[in-house]
Amino acid sequence: MELLTDRSKIVSNKKLSFLEKLYLPAIFEGMWITLGHLFRRKVTIRYPEKKKEFSEIYRGQHILKRDEEGRERCTACGLCAVACPAEAITMTAAERKAGEETLYREEKYAVVYEIDMLRCIFCGLCEEACPKEAIFLTKRIVSPELTRERFVYGKDLLLEPSDRLRRIDISGRQTKEVIGFKKDKKFKHNQ
Ligand code: SF4
Ligand code: SF4
Repeated sequence: MELLTDRSKIVSNKKLSFLEKLYLPAIFEGMWITLGHLFRRKVTIRYPEKKKEFSEIYRGQHILKRDEEGRERCTACGLCAVACPAEAITMTAAERKAGEETLYREEKYAVVYEIDMLRCIFCGLCEEACPKEAIFLTKRIVSPELTRERFVYGKDLLLEPSDRLRRIDISGRQTKEVIGFKKDKKFKHNQ
């Protein structure tokens, strides 16, 4: 059989020597390595007493934003799903009905909006693609789960609370240039 890499090893069943049977050299070698690590800079921290500092540009769990009046901003245009390289986003669009103007900002909205957090690579392309400033990544960490299904986040986990005091601040995600671009009326999608 032709080998694809040169990483394969021939395994032999050679008999152990007397010294090897004592295992002492191997134990001392292991202890020597452990001793060496005692004096090196630690790469771990004492969580949860100590929290790791995140980079300014850290991208974590997404948020679906509401506008100033508490209406959902997402119009289910699907641009985020198209831009997503991991194909992690799926949605189902619905028409806004009369009387629902206080719930949804646009005439079309996402009745179902899901992100598979196990597929997501937190690249932020969905955020960049969104013309409605509806989706942003935040500094929040996706919680560990025991089943794969629970990593599929729906609107119940993604949509920010309508209570103004509990809204998620995403101002750190927008640079001055991006804010300026989004306000530029000569681009139709910014109007
Ligand atoms: S952050 Fe990237 S991978 Fe994750 S949902 Fe958005 S576009 Fe897809
Ligand atoms: S989050 Fe933005 S890009 Fe994605 S469907 Fe909603 S409006 Fe469109």
